Amino acid sequence: MATIFTKIIAGEIPCYKVAEDDNFLAFLDINPNAKGHTLCIPKKEVDKLLDLDEGTYSGLMSFSRKVGKAIEEAIDCNRVGMAVIGLEVPHVHVHLIPLNSMKDATFQSKVQLSDAEFKEIASKISAKL
Ligand code: 5GP
Repeated sequence: MATIFTKIIAGEIPCYKVAEDDNFLAFLDINPNAKGHTLCIPKKEVDKLLDLDEGTYSGLMSFSRKVGKAIEEAIDCNRVGMAVIGLEVPHVHVHLIPLNSMKDATFQSKVQLSDAEFKEIASKISAKL
């Protein structure tokens, strides 16, 4: 069965898109740790990061680096943290999280954003790419 992220890639489920190329997609996490929390995914549906072929793994890291740099410019933060967890959605995704304190990295403390705020954040990050 297709993962929720494959449905997002196919446009069957909406997302706040930040960046896309032939092989990768970046969009805002729907339950963010902090404003600008973004997920980068390969369009190829693979569950675990370390099971990616080397080309897709390197491509994902390079794509995530570009998006992370854009987040650093667009969002007021101390730095952008990167994490790969994958316990909830079995489709490889890199979390890029604007960090101001350790709390932002815990996945325990979440921020609520309106539709308008999500749209504004996504377009601010996209504009830096
Ligand atoms: P993990 O699998 O790394 O533990 O976490 C999955 C992440 O995907 C969570 O941070 C969660 O908020 C996010 N997520 C789950 N479903 C959706 C969705 O339908 N849309 C978006 N944008 N994010 C989602």
